[in-house]
Amino acid sequence: MLRKNILLYFLYIVSSIILLFGLGYTKNWENKDIIVGFIFLGCYIFGTKYRFTSIILLVTFSVLSFYFPTGIIYGKPTEAILIPLIQTNKLEIIGYLMVIKYKIFLSVLFIIIQFFIYQISKKEKHKFKYFIIFAFIFLYIVSLFGISVNHHGINRNAFLKNSIDSWKAIRKQKEEQQVSLGDSSAIKIEGKIDNNDDTEIRVVIIGESVRRDYMSVYGYPHNTTPFLNTSNGIFINGFVSAGPSTVLSLSRMLFKADPKENQILWGINVISLANKSGYETYWISNQGINGWGDDLLFNLSKLASEAHFLKKGNFDSGANDDIEMLPVFSQIINKNQNSKVIFIHMMGSHEPVCKRLGEFKPSFNINSEAGCYAATIEKLDSFIKLITENLKGKKYKLMYFSDHGLSVEKKHSFHDVDLYEEYQVPLFYLDSKEEKHINFNKTISGINLLDIYSSFINVKTNVTNSDYSFKLLDQIQNDPDPIIFWEKYKPISSIQKKQAAITDINAGIILKNVKKLNKNLQLSDNCSGYIEDVEIAFPSNSRIYKIFGWAASNKVKEPLSGTVGSFIISNNKIIFVEGEPGFRPDVQQHFGTPKEKGSYYGIVSYLDKKYIDPQNKIYFGYKNENDNYTICKPYR
Ligand SMILES: [Zn+2]
Repeated sequence: MLRKNILLYFLYIVSSIILLFGLGYTKNWENKDIIVGFIFLGCYIFGTKYRFTSIILLVTFSVLSFYFPTGIIYGKPTEAILIPLIQTNKLEIIGYLMVIKYKIFLSVLFIIIQFFIYQISKKEKHKFKYFIIFAFIFLYIVSLFGISVNHHGINRNAFLKNSIDSWKAIRKQKEEQQVSLGDSSAIKIEGKIDNNDDTEIRVVIIGESVRRDYMSVYGYPHNTTPFLNTSNGIFINGFVSAGPSTVLSLSRMLFKADPKENQILWGINVISLANKSGYETYWISNQGINGWGDDLLFNLSKLASEAHFLKKGNFDSGANDDIEMLPVFSQIINKNQNSKVIFIHMMGSHEPVCKRLGEFKPSFNINSEAGCYAATIEKLDSFIKLITENLKGKKYKLMYFSDHGLSVEKKHSFHDVDLYEEYQVPLFYLDSKEEKHINFNKTISGINLLDIYSSFINVKTNVTNSDYSFKLLDQIQNDPDPIIFWEKYKPISSIQKKQAAITDINAGIILKNVKKLNKNLQLSDNCSGYIEDVEIAFPSNSRIYKIFGWAASNKVKEPLSGTVGSFIISNNKIIFVEGEPGFRPDVQQHFGTPKEKGSYYGIVSYLDKKYIDPQNKIYFGYKNENDNYTICKPYR
């Protein structure tokens, strides 16, 4: 009897500690959270005295345990944590599930303990029935919702209270956005800038992940933009994107951003400005329609007279080529004589960049990731050429800009928010009436894009500054330190890291020696590797394969040290191919590893086709300085 009681109390204490840990209290521990531990303990002590309260405990605490994997990694629920959990970006969810695998074990263990407690706790008549039930209800409510009176409270970060508050805040934000998006009442059209403008069609092309320094029209040594090099128009050298990713940037370039108040006036946007000025508006997109950020642009597109999406899912569902937007474009421009503004949202150079090429044949051989990137720029050039050919015989104006840049390495390309070139993007303007090719050195913040756009559609308004105009570029002031948004509004000068464009794109990747192994080899639990894919590295060379993914040490979740690489195990031999460590802030973020531990979780190995056989098993691992090889267990 006594032994059973000791066991029960032990399980109560263990469960309370697991709850503190799993619900994220220990992640950012405050000493007063010890009280919360005692509240959980109290719930068990009083709650297990009767059958129905026992069932309440069993069910609710077991359900809470589904949050443990998230709580252990990120802490108590907040808006910032819930947003990625409810968004539908496929990559994020895969990443999340991979990380969860470890932690889900604790949830399972916890649920087993709850059943055990339910089974062995005695439920019988007690003298102080009402007191016990009242105490349970009180502690139970405090454990989930906390209490706060004036400015004092217990368990103010209670799980359900926090979750509900964050959820409400997110909903409110989204609803406000949707409502205010359609409310263009703040816009007053004050008239035309040029009364003699007889342009029939205006095209706004929104580029994706295009860096200015890879375009020959801006000085890249390879001829990646043969059409644009000699096109008549205005090319601005110095445009700085408003942010480092599609949504952060476009929400501040296509909508009116107010950096001083740190808010975005959703109702003032590119479509509403054109609609109010009497244009027919069209949105053609090769990007997705759901997903947290895609959502915003989808809602914006609904304000247009007509919207066409090639993709039916999120941004990476299916692989439509940008070229497929052309028939839709062609049909729109020949529809009627009304003045039109047509938006084209490209997939452009979105990573994985080699996949973006599709059927496109670049004018040079591709033997590296940087080569693929340069080829996507050449593909963009041909896309714009095709657009202008469609427009032949019509009076048109066309403007193009990219949402942000990309970090491009010989073997790898990815978002790097701390990289200067992530923000250095093209902005140019073509005009059927323009007779010169003009290059302009002028630094302009992406935040001013809406001003430039309103001049482009020839309207003066109360919410835009018509000094920003392709026609008046020589008059507007150079913005010495343009503002960007990453975590907060800040000047571009705060971004120090630079990366020159890779120019030896014809040079191939030098394949590392493949080493045959038979000794000094161990399979280890100390690290885990995840192979994302094994595929042809570059479209124009089917002999070179790449194996890519990431690996981490198991205990501390840090990147591997030593020489990383891939092990290929076939029937009769084991080989090791040295790989390149890759920058993977996404993996670091999912593990919640501190920044100083580094983000080089990625591994990419290049090797000849002859080593790739579907029968072979592939693992990641490393070699130490004594030439001892360690194969990491796979995440599976
Ligand atoms: Zn983008």
